[in-house]
Amino acid sequence: MGSVGGTRVVVLGAGIVGSACARELALAGCTVTVVDRGGPAAATTSHSEGNVLVSDKSPGPELRLAQLSRRLWPEILADVVTAGAAQALAKGERVAVGDRMVVAGSGPFLLPVAASLLEAGSRVLEVLEANTSGTVARGWSRRPSQPAGLLGRAGELAGYTWTLGRERVPYRFGRTVIEARGEGRVEEVVTARLRPDWSVVPGSERVRPADALCVGHGFSPQLELPLAAGCALRGPGAGPSPDPPSGGQGA
Ligand SMILES: Cc1cc2nc3c(=O)[nH]c(=O)nc-3n(C[C@H](O)[C@H](O)[C@H](O)COP(=O)(O)OP(=O)(O)OC[C@H]3O[C@@H](n4cnc5c(N)ncnc54)[C@H](O)[C@@H]3O)c2cc1C
Repeated sequence: MGSVGGTRVVVLGAGIVGSACARELALAGCTVTVVDRGGPAAATTSHSEGNVLVSDKSPGPELRLAQLSRRLWPEILADVVTAGAAQALAKGERVAVGDRMVVAGSGPFLLPVAASLLEAGSRVLEVLEANTSGTVARGWSRRPSQPAGLLGRAGELAGYTWTLGRERVPYRFGRTVIEARGEGRVEEVVTARLRPDWSVVPGSERVRPADALCVGHGFSPQLELPLAAGCALRGPGAGPSPDPPSGGQGA
């Protein structure tokens, strides 16, 4: 790309194509504004399976582009990713999002994600659980009755903990990442200690070199289908219960 520094660019569409163009333009020095009539990746991109498919391309420019995309894929990904994306890439494609990763957030899902990253070849520097050890011991719940829900997965959790221990990955409670820094890519992260209400303890910040950050805070239920079927909903993630349920029998 020629000299573009100082050029102001408007990109229409925050799908994968618009976002990729915006990123390259910003890295080349342009001031970029992305405009979308919906949300980021709200259209076709959110339905994609996330593969870079090479096998269905005939010899020619399309195949060469697909092969180039496949080579660039890990490099482009090495940044800040959600735990779900890191897990899908590590388990599904054996792609390690980064070489030196920090995994941060809350909930048991951080453990299988860290284990998958190790299997895919990443060095996991530390896993930071925002909750206190007491909350984790109660099955990530403030209520004492909750661990029963996790007892069925105790063996699985123990396996992940063993993997982390074998690879000497520290698992720290009450700490999280508050900033990712770098020129165009993640170069270091700032971690900090948290109080039980997750407010940051001033002066507890630590800078740690890393080339990728994986963040996850559990799952949100997708309730479109049960709501459409007229099911009554209970539980913390369920929102207001529709009154009175008109269907849902046998759902
Ligand atoms: C089920 C499914 C699976 C797929 N799996 C794969 C796969 O595994 N690998 C692969 O390579 N490809 C896959 N694809 C194809 C891939 O998803 C698309 O080629 C790609 O997402 C297109 O990206 P895009 O940015 O061009 O479009 P989009 O993601 O559709 O983004 C366009 C954006 O522009 C916005 N927009 C449109 N008009 C305007 C306007 N006038 N003003 C403001 N904003 C506007 C829209 O809101 C939208 O956010 C799959 C597609 C589907 C449907």
